[in-house]
Amino acid sequence: MARSRAQIERLIRGAMGEIKADLIIIGGKLVNVYSGEILDGMEIAVLDGRICYVGPSAAHTRGDATEVLDARGLYVSPGFIDAHTHIGHFCRPYEYLQAYLPHGTTALVASCDEPATVFGFKGVKLFLDEVEAHPLRVYTVISMVAPQDPLLCSTASLSQSEVAAGLDDPRVIGLGEIVSWLRLVQGDQELLERIEMALERGKIIHGHTARTRDQKLCAIAAGRAGETALGILDDVA
Ligand SMILES: [Zn+2]
Repeated sequence: MARSRAQIERLIRGAMGEIKADLIIIGGKLVNVYSGEILDGMEIAVLDGRICYVGPSAAHTRGDATEVLDARGLYVSPGFIDAHTHIGHFCRPYEYLQAYLPHGTTALVASCDEPATVFGFKGVKLFLDEVEAHPLRVYTVISMVAPQDPLLCSTASLSQSEVAAGLDDPRVIGLGEIVSWLRLVQGDQELLERIEMALERGKIIHGHTARTRDQKLCAIAAGRAGETALGILDDVA
C-alpha cells in the first residue's frame, strides 16, 4: 500500500529520533539479505509498523513508551516470501496462515483453487475475505481453470465474467494454476480470453508447466502462462 506524505515524514523524523519508536529490537544477529552478511551489534527501530532505523545504536529513537525486544541468541531477517503455495488443501486458509507466520513467512502467493472448486466464485470471495483478515500478507491468484480438467471432475467452475470480476478485485494479482497446460498449447480459446483479460488489467499469469520442454515450453511461455518457469523441473506445487 502506498504511503502518504505524512507517513513518510513520520518515518524520516523517526529515523532522526525526533519521533520515538514504537519498538526497538536489540541484541540479535541481523541477516543482511543484500550483502549476504550476518551482522552483530545492529539495532532496529520500528515506527507505525515500519522500520525507520537500522544501525549500531537505536538509543536516540527510544522513548518512555518504546517497547524494547531483546533478541539475543536469535537471527533477525526480513520476512520470508513463499512465491507459490496452497493454503486451502488441508484446513481453512486462516488456520494455515496461523501455522505459517511463526516460522517467519510474512507474505505468500496463493491460489484459491480449493474453495473455487467447491463453491465456485462464492469460494473465491470467501477465500479473499478470510485471508484479508490475517496479518500475513496474501497475494491471491484466481484459478485460470477450475476444475483443472472438466472431463475428469464435475465440481464447480468459473464463468468468464466471474474470472473478470475476480481479476478486478485489487486483492487478486493475476491468474494462476494452469495445471492442464496442454489446453493452452492446443489453443483453447477460453484460456486465451482469460489471459487476455488478465494482461489488459496489468495482472500476472502464474502456472505450472511440469515436464514441458523445447517447443511446448516455448509455446507456454508465448502464452504467458509459464511465468513460474517450472518447465524443466518436475512439478513442485
Ligand atoms: Zn500450485
